[in-house]
Amino acid sequence: MHVALASIYERVLARNPGEVEFHQAVQEVLESIGPAVDKHPEYADARIVERICEPERQIIFRVPWEDDHGEIHINRGFRVEFNSALGPYKGGLRFHPTVMLGTVKFLGFEQIFKNALTGLPIGGGKGGSDFDPRGRSDREVMRFCQSFMLELYRHLGEYTDVPAGDMGVGGRELGYLFGQYKRITNRYESGVLTGKGLIYGGAQVRKEATGYGCTFFVDQMLRARGESFDGKDVVVSGSGNVAIYTIEKVQQLGGRVVACSDSSGFVHDPKGIDLELLKEVKEVRRERIAAYAEQRANAEFVTGRSVWEVPCAVAMPSATQNELDEDDARALLRNGCIAVGEGANMPTTPGAVRILMEGGVSFAPGKAANAGGVAASALEMQQNASRDSWTFEYSETRLREIMVDIHDRCYATAEEYGVPGNYVAGANIGGYARVAEAMLALGLI
Ligand code: GLU
Repeated sequence: MHVALASIYERVLARNPGEVEFHQAVQEVLESIGPAVDKHPEYADARIVERICEPERQIIFRVPWEDDHGEIHINRGFRVEFNSALGPYKGGLRFHPTVMLGTVKFLGFEQIFKNALTGLPIGGGKGGSDFDPRGRSDREVMRFCQSFMLELYRHLGEYTDVPAGDMGVGGRELGYLFGQYKRITNRYESGVLTGKGLIYGGAQVRKEATGYGCTFFVDQMLRARGESFDGKDVVVSGSGNVAIYTIEKVQQLGGRVVACSDSSGFVHDPKGIDLELLKEVKEVRRERIAAYAEQRANAEFVTGRSVWEVPCAVAMPSATQNELDEDDARALLRNGCIAVGEGANMPTTPGAVRILMEGGVSFAPGKAANAGGVAASALEMQQNASRDSWTFEYSETRLREIMVDIHDRCYATAEEYGVPGNYVAGANIGGYARVAEAMLALGLI
């Protein structure tokens, strides 16, 4: 790492003890931007780097709620408003038992650069709770969401902070959150949350956007090396919203998705995943992935092994952070993988990224490849602000244009800095430069 940036990194470590994932995310960015700071010394003026590493505001709050048996539970809620140089704080809410401040800070930090890369006017933020929606009834989830919003609402606003979904927060949760916001404020402020249902101010293609967008990005990356999805075997980890719509778009582009997973294991389906069955199991019945294999001839449910052992030309990790490690990277290389696109946030460990890139794999980092979700959120905000709603076709065209643009910007930036094909450097420098320039223009605030 560049010496000046290394000493800043040391200070970030000392200031945020124990926040391992946040450290990892900061390190990854600071390792990339050295050449940009050398070329544009102003990018490190006025302590911009340190300011970017320190959230503008961090909110932690108590979320009490009552379950169906009258028992009281206390969870912890978070919202980290990281950077608003480019627009209102924007980023999802994650409900998962492992969520703690360090998780939210890592995600919020990534979000700053991801949002900057979209070229749309959105700052970076993230929130969530250690609440576990799994096994909870709809009414319990509703009571939790209402209690969560009873505190969070005072920090939100369409010009201030605009949350969306993330792991554990989908259409059902966003509906309850929006309903409560509306009731407390007595304002039908559609643009305060994105990922809303289509009937009450949501946008076409928002649900599909992260998966579709990641696939569009990887498609561009394949084209840049004279390849395409057509006829290729693809492995997608996860089976949530991102994975499902990645599989849908990969199939539409002629690829065959031969495996997907959840936290209990993976299914290997050599004939190609039956998407309707997967949606039925995961979106309607909310069951584990094993149920898919039970209903599908020739599909095998595998536990205790890594999904990345399944041979594929393209890997799209779409489950969670640090799910693809060095052994997995070696297995992918051995089996002839040529491209990896991160649908999840930071799913590939730093060592695995190195192995893949040294092995000649085209590697799309999440902050570029999975920006489609938040880009579609920004399009939802545009539609809400103009009280309009666009067609599916138009929305998908806009999304595709944005993803192609992000790809091209990452590609061109990597070329400019003498590391052609290095999308990690391209994304980090491209995103950082936009945020730094805006912060310099706005003065010391
Ligand atoms: N949670 C998504 C992400 O990680 C979407 C955020 C948003 O739409 O605001 O980018």
